[in-house]
Amino acid sequence: STIGLYCRFKILTIITFKDLNMQIILLGAPGAGKGTQAQFISKHLNIPQISTGDMLRAAVANKTELGLKAKDLMEKGDLVPDGLILDLVQNRISEADCSNGFLFDGFPRTLEQANALKDREVKIDCVIEIMVDDDEIIERMSGRRVHPASGRTYHIKHNPPKQNNIDNETGEALIQRPDDNEETVKKRLSIYHEQTYPLFEFYKGLSSKKLPTNYVEINGIGGIDDIQLQIINNIEKLR
Ligand code: AMP
Repeated sequence: STIGLYCRFKILTIITFKDLNMQIILLGAPGAGKGTQAQFISKHLNIPQISTGDMLRAAVANKTELGLKAKDLMEKGDLVPDGLILDLVQNRISEADCSNGFLFDGFPRTLEQANALKDREVKIDCVIEIMVDDDEIIERMSGRRVHPASGRTYHIKHNPPKQNNIDNETGEALIQRPDDNEETVKKRLSIYHEQTYPLFEFYKGLSSKKLPTNYVEINGIGGIDDIQLQIINNIEKLR
């Protein structure tokens, strides 16, 4: 009957909507594997990956006003001011492809940014923290190679491309990020400990007050597939 058909359609749209609409934050030190895992999650849930780092690098490459302001700070390993980042993110999440959810990768980085999300009542379903200690991070960053156009990352030992220094999907050359040298990595790690680490307590606090934010800790040492599986399993529990 028409009513039966309508009901089935309605149920289907509700289920589909619920399935897709997830707003997730991926936390972790630079080099913890956020970018790599973000690409899997984004494909798995069919939601866009919002990497403020990638957006800033694109702005720098295109020499936009934002890019000109951010360039030196990024090269030195310093954070870009909260106001600039918040405008960037606000504009991005109001785009059509974000209406069914999104995944933040590398944002928020400061308590100010996290509080701004809360004040603007941006719903966060899940915060996933990837834990890796500093020594491992330094080893990883020095071997990291990036495909600039897509943000795809590789590691010369742990996740090498099929062909030396060539992106698997486009055949284009890989680069080493200018801020991936050891000295800058150490500075980024210390900024991370001072400014980003407090976010763990912030989001743990939110989830314990039974607000709908779930908080998940993942051990970031191990095989990429293994870590991916742990993350996907945790996300599936929330569906
Ligand atoms: P990432 O690729 O996430 O490591 O970011 C590279 C650089 O971009 C950082 O070292 C910062 O200079 C800048 N950046 C990226 N995301 C943020 C953010 N949420 N807040 C401030 N600065 C950021």
